[in-house]
Amino acid sequence: MPIVRVALNVPVGTLFDYYAEHADQENIGLRVSVPFGKRRLAGIIMEVVANTEVPPEKLKTIQSIFTDNPPLPKELLNLFAFCSQYYHHPIGMVIMNGLPAALRTTKPIKPKKDHSATWNNTQLRLTDAGKRIALSSIPKRQRIARNLLVRFQQVESIPGEAFKEDSSRIKQLIQQWLVSGWISTDSSPHSAQDNAVTDSNIPTLTVEQDHAVNTILSAQSHFHVSLLHGITGSGKTEVYLRLIAAMLMQDKQVLVLVPEINLTPQLEAIFHNRFPCTNLISLHSGLNDTERLQGWLQAQTGEANIVLGTRLAIFTPLPNLGLIIVDEEHDHSFKQQDGLRYSARDLAIFRSKQVNIPVILGSATPSLESYHSAITGRYRVIQLTSRAIKNAALPTIQTIDTRIHKTFNGLSQPLLQALRTNLSEQQQSIIFINRRGYAPTLLCKSCAWTAACVRCSSRLVVHLRDKDLRCHYCGHQERLPIHCPECGNQDLTPFGQGTQRVTETLNTYFPNARILRIDRDSTRRKDAWRSILQKIHNQEIDILVGTQILAKGHDFPNLSLIGILNSDNSLYSTDFRASERLFAQLMQISGRAGRSNNKGQVLIQTEFPDHPLYQALQKQNFDALAKNLLIERKIAGFPPYVHQAVLRAEAHRIETVIDFLSTAAKLAKDYESIELFDPVPAQMLRLKGMERGHLLVQSASRKQLQIFLLQWQKQLSTVPTQKIRWVLDVDPVEL
Ligand code: ADP
Ligand code: ZN
Ligand code: ZN
Repeated sequence: MPIVRVALNVPVGTLFDYYAEHADQENIGLRVSVPFGKRRLAGIIMEVVANTEVPPEKLKTIQSIFTDNPPLPKELLNLFAFCSQYYHHPIGMVIMNGLPAALRTTKPIKPKKDHSATWNNTQLRLTDAGKRIALSSIPKRQRIARNLLVRFQQVESIPGEAFKEDSSRIKQLIQQWLVSGWISTDSSPHSAQDNAVTDSNIPTLTVEQDHAVNTILSAQSHFHVSLLHGITGSGKTEVYLRLIAAMLMQDKQVLVLVPEINLTPQLEAIFHNRFPCTNLISLHSGLNDTERLQGWLQAQTGEANIVLGTRLAIFTPLPNLGLIIVDEEHDHSFKQQDGLRYSARDLAIFRSKQVNIPVILGSATPSLESYHSAITGRYRVIQLTSRAIKNAALPTIQTIDTRIHKTFNGLSQPLLQALRTNLSEQQQSIIFINRRGYAPTLLCKSCAWTAACVRCSSRLVVHLRDKDLRCHYCGHQERLPIHCPECGNQDLTPFGQGTQRVTETLNTYFPNARILRIDRDSTRRKDAWRSILQKIHNQEIDILVGTQILAKGHDFPNLSLIGILNSDNSLYSTDFRASERLFAQLMQISGRAGRSNNKGQVLIQTEFPDHPLYQALQKQNFDALAKNLLIERKIAGFPPYVHQAVLRAEAHRIETVIDFLSTAAKLAKDYESIELFDPVPAQMLRLKGMERGHLLVQSASRKQLQIFLLQWQKQLSTVPTQKIRWVLDVDPVEL
């Protein structure tokens, strides 16, 4: 009987063998259910073989092979295999990490839901916007969409039930057109947005954009990495749109990765408007299991042309993939920080190479790794150096020296004055402070007690609105104490500034201003973002107070002043990537200002106005800063000049952790090409009740590092590790 080798979601780096009657090579990539100990587990067939080393009496038979979804394509299996190898993570766990939940179970998947129910019994007609879609804007190859459009154009309206016998693709198109406001039903409001794609509202490319598009398209049929380095507002999105259009014309699929789930609706809308007839699916952690499964299956069958998603979308099967775009490539959220610690950006490069297609890394502030690859010629660099909108200039960036201009409740006079002026000119402002809550600490002034988390080495943040204290690391919450638990003093002081407190202070200074706080707390509700963005665009907000959630990608046309508070905290961090990250963040938030015709101003409150980072920021000179940082990294022997991996371990007591790490260090001693650091406790020692430490290893050669890690991991697996958990983190972005 044939034997299948199956990847299972268990922390062992091997495949598991089972008998499977009738199995053949065609079954590779199919999902199976197998007995495993007393349980049944879902797995994926990786190989079908005739022989095994497992003794026959131990070999069990699989329970079932699921054929309700097509097998995972070979490329995807190879991607998983690479990922497992490179990140030293068990293959089964890598695969299960990448699959939608429904495909990780031992149950058959549910059939697709039918959208048509909602419009079955009504009349469908083109809206005014829909009437303006030019047939010529739909690629000839998209015959179904073209025919459907013509069908609508020929009559006043069509009863929904007329589509009953049509394919699911047509029903899907109708659904999409309803969402984009191209068609309406009797019951839908007739206020379809005025967003038809006519040739006139596709902007003419700037010279730089045109160059970017042509450069990339001129080499579209083979692998290369292009770093699209464009300042904020330079119109990177338009470049993406043109490239996507070119791919769609050839019936190819495009994968677009974005760092933040918040950014998906906005891009989704932009893509829908430009490509109304294209099947776009968006994949991110905010979807429920069914939605994610449906999207995934549409990608796998090739029905979906554009896949937009956060890092996990890198594992989507895409049979006709023609291009990958990684927007904001420098963003650390492309690196998963637990379990399988993969970098979706780096896997995007692997994937492009695998199928021989271009990949675009876009950013205003590229990671030093990518920047280094660009200046050394490994990546092609394409620059966009000016803003795309005529007359939109970059904002001016200045510092306010808080040693001279003292702050009250976090705000200095010059900043308040600038806010006042901006308000009187009916322009919008942002106050950026990267700390949510009311105040970062609760302090007893008589005995110096501060509220600390019981499970983490962190201070508890005061959330005055909800009258509680919260740990921003583990989520622990407790009531706000009335008196000091140490000395009984009743005069406990919230210390420092958070978004809630700054909002409160601004309300007292500007009682008539419409002030809105934007942070993780205020945007938690589903759809909160949508209504906030709507308010901003309708000019219903004067001042936004927010965390980094505001920094990314959003386009606020009437915004002309940005005040930055408390950014000094990251200047002298122990993390060597802190400056790079701070610079990117401040550039990004600054980039929100002056995006249309009004000029923008950015004011940074700091005690260190002469710091090189602020100097570079004022000149908006990324290259100068990047080159300096690269020199520092070279001297210090840090990435991108070396390649790193971290062995992270945790246990109840740090002594156990350090013992284990010391043993690990001894095992690593004999490898010549590896530089070994001392085991150290983590910067934040305790997290969720566990004490943590790490051991950093690095090498000038990625290959040598990989060879070492493979051996080391084998050795580590044999070290008795009761009560300890450890994991390897390859190419860590945080220590
Ligand atoms: P980036 O992502 O590079 O920060 P965006 O893609 O958000 O920049 O573009 C900034 C603004 O410029 C957007 O409002 C966009 O519609 C506009 N824009 C882009 N390209 C052009 C162009 N060629 N002509 C006019 N406006 C453009
Ligand atoms: Zn006290
Ligand atoms: Zn905690």
